[in-house]
Amino acid sequence: MARVNENFAVLEDSYLFSQVAHKVADFSAAHPEKKIIRLGIGDVTLPLAPVVVTAMQKAAAEMGVKETFRGYGPEQGYDFLHEALVKYYAGFGVTLESSEIFISDGAKSDCGNITDIFDDANVILVPDPVYPVYLDTNIMRGRKIVFMEGSPENGFLPMPDPTVKADIIYLCSPNNPTGAAYSKAQLKEWVTYACQNGAVILYDAAYEAFIEDETLPRSIFQIEGAKECAIELCSLSKTAGFTGTRCGYTVVPLRLMRKTKNGKEMSLNKMWLRRQTTKFNGVPYIVQRAAEAVFTPEGQRQCRENLAYYKENARLIGAALQEKGITYYGGTNSPYIWMQCPRQMKSWEFFDFLLEELNIVGTPGSGFGSSGEGWFRLTAFAGRKATEEAVERFRKLL
Ligand code: PLP
Repeated sequence: MARVNENFAVLEDSYLFSQVAHKVADFSAAHPEKKIIRLGIGDVTLPLAPVVVTAMQKAAAEMGVKETFRGYGPEQGYDFLHEALVKYYAGFGVTLESSEIFISDGAKSDCGNITDIFDDANVILVPDPVYPVYLDTNIMRGRKIVFMEGSPENGFLPMPDPTVKADIIYLCSPNNPTGAAYSKAQLKEWVTYACQNGAVILYDAAYEAFIEDETLPRSIFQIEGAKECAIELCSLSKTAGFTGTRCGYTVVPLRLMRKTKNGKEMSLNKMWLRRQTTKFNGVPYIVQRAAEAVFTPEGQRQCRENLAYYKENARLIGAALQEKGITYYGGTNSPYIWMQCPRQMKSWEFFDFLLEELNIVGTPGSGFGSSGEGWFRLTAFAGRKATEEAVERFRKLL
């Protein structure tokens, strides 16, 4: 008889967004006249940049012509996109080899799939609060997970604790949900800790394009020594509105080596290549051409216009909270605003208050980990009008 993976039995139901959706549906059914503003979801709302659409159309047309039709592509992505990324990284001082870059259908898949190349006996260090995928994908493997607490004391940027022994470390900067971003000096401490312990950092840079403070790192590879201890996962979802188009990339340095139980030295780059060529058949040609267009000067200009729109939304929300004396993190260098619930309310209590009194939907911080209790995530991805109206409601009622 087939036995199932028992680790799924200990996974908690993915309760956060379904619970939010239920509560909002119940509220709208009871009060159809109320205009609800949604600052809860982490999905983009602006359309793809025109150069991206043109590149997709051109690539689609090529697929309809015998001479330019493409079948299976390289599992790790086409050279043209690797070259575009090599140039992009050079823009912030990082030298990459084409063979260090792996194109994927997004950072969520890579976050989950990368677990394949690590032994299940590893101890996993996960920030709390954080993007829930790191936790759940490792619970699915039955791994031991240790949490590092984010709090106002550390600015929601947990730092290495020499008394904690970890093998795999997840870092997300700028962070979802807190919007907090590590400085180069802070990342250097993590790189030193990882190198000293033989650990590997899985660095999620999905929000790097939101960074406007030029002193902050856009990539962990801006930190000396990171190529010996880190893998970087990134995505075009938020950078270029690819949440529905699906394209991301993972950088596994050629120098990154670790041993098997028996002491055999293995290249993580070669392992990831083997994993991808075995279990993945690549991202569609059309999507990779669209992604290539993102990295052209015009593509960057157009995508940055969209990012500026979201950032202005974040600024408006942040300014209103500041006026009300509400503590918050993020809002700059990030599309997320992580606010403390007023009047010492718990996260879900504040969710209900916001929905019922202001008809605004956000995301309870406790859904991102127990350290998120008493905190709340607002996003900058709504339209300008809706954001301005939400801000007015905050000003009047909070
Ligand atoms: N990493 C973080 C921190 C995210 O917040 C998200 C999406 O919300 C992802 C990864 C997933 O991105 P993708 O759409 O590329 O799968």
